[in-house]
Amino acid sequence: MPSPARRAAGANLPQVRDHNSALVLDLVRRGGAISRVELAAQSGLTAQAITKIVNRLVADGLVTEAGRIGSTGGKPRTLLRLDPTARYAVGVHLDRDDTTVVLTDLTAQKVTRRHVPQGMTADPSATLDRVADAVRAVLTDIADASRLVGVGIACPGPLDHTTGVLHRVTGLPDWDGFPLGAEAADRLGAPVTVDKDTNAAAIGQTLSSPDTPVNFAYLYHGQGIGAGLVLGGRVYRGRRTNAGEFGHQVIDLNGPPCRCGNRGCLEALCRAALDTGNPVRAAHLVGIATANLVHLLDIDHIVLGGPVVLAAAEQYMQEVATTVNALLPEPDWQRVIVGLAADRADTIATGAAALALAPLFNTSTSDDGADRAA
Ligand SMILES: [Zn+2]
Repeated sequence: MPSPARRAAGANLPQVRDHNSALVLDLVRRGGAISRVELAAQSGLTAQAITKIVNRLVADGLVTEAGRIGSTGGKPRTLLRLDPTARYAVGVHLDRDDTTVVLTDLTAQKVTRRHVPQGMTADPSATLDRVADAVRAVLTDIADASRLVGVGIACPGPLDHTTGVLHRVTGLPDWDGFPLGAEAADRLGAPVTVDKDTNAAAIGQTLSSPDTPVNFAYLYHGQGIGAGLVLGGRVYRGRRTNAGEFGHQVIDLNGPPCRCGNRGCLEALCRAALDTGNPVRAAHLVGIATANLVHLLDIDHIVLGGPVVLAAAEQYMQEVATTVNALLPEPDWQRVIVGLAADRADTIATGAAALALAPLFNTSTSDDGADRAA
């Protein structure tokens, strides 16, 4: 179901008119160069339907004909390719302290970026005015603003991905209930998708490192701690689209109070460790929590990102790897690979742009709250 924000601005959505068109466009994107015959075989659609859809995609400029190949016993087949520059998306990483905006092509490759040294202030409306200015600034880099597919905004949760409404974001009470998606869509006149920064990070990880496995957790450690969960190649969001609140698992019943109102959350314990200048202790705690996650989901691949990780990346990674593997009862059988995020710059903003592209390729949220990761 489309978000209100997406519905409100839907009239501007370019050209992919139905499910089958999006399916075919996605096959062209994944195929690199693909013939109409292969499209029919892979989609299950009739040759006539493929012809009609491809004609429309070519007319819209999304697909181009790219040479011919011979086929055994038949006439040569024309190959079709996606034109990556036919449309663009904008990805916004709206963080607590700063904002990064990227413009990407249809393959989520970054074309240009802007950085704003201000993030989510106590005034959501003023913050969004600044975001809108930065988005307009990157759009000046493409000649025709009507080629914008949409805008993806990644920010700290909790939030409702389907409505684009923020909930009680820790430390930012003025944003509770703020309809970020709808407000941004109003300012920009474009479809807007809102998601947690951790989910955008996980999507960005699969984009920048295509050999990332289909099951992994992206653990983000910045001012907060969260997880982007990719299961079976799809982002898992959960019933209320709020899965991955990794930092608020209680690991010490008598621990210090957390900003969420509970006691002894991982996030509160890590903050205490960092405040006393002990990042290894923080990484050790994250390792304990990661073992819980592995017990629960049986994933074998953890990707670490975020400023606290990057401040001492190797040391942090080693401590998490050692701790998690020591806590699993059968470490040889249950071995967990812990690695660092692939692209340290603009991963989250690029992942947010991929979210905006998803409707074009029919890879957006399904009823189970899961998105294909890339
Ligand atoms: Zn908490």
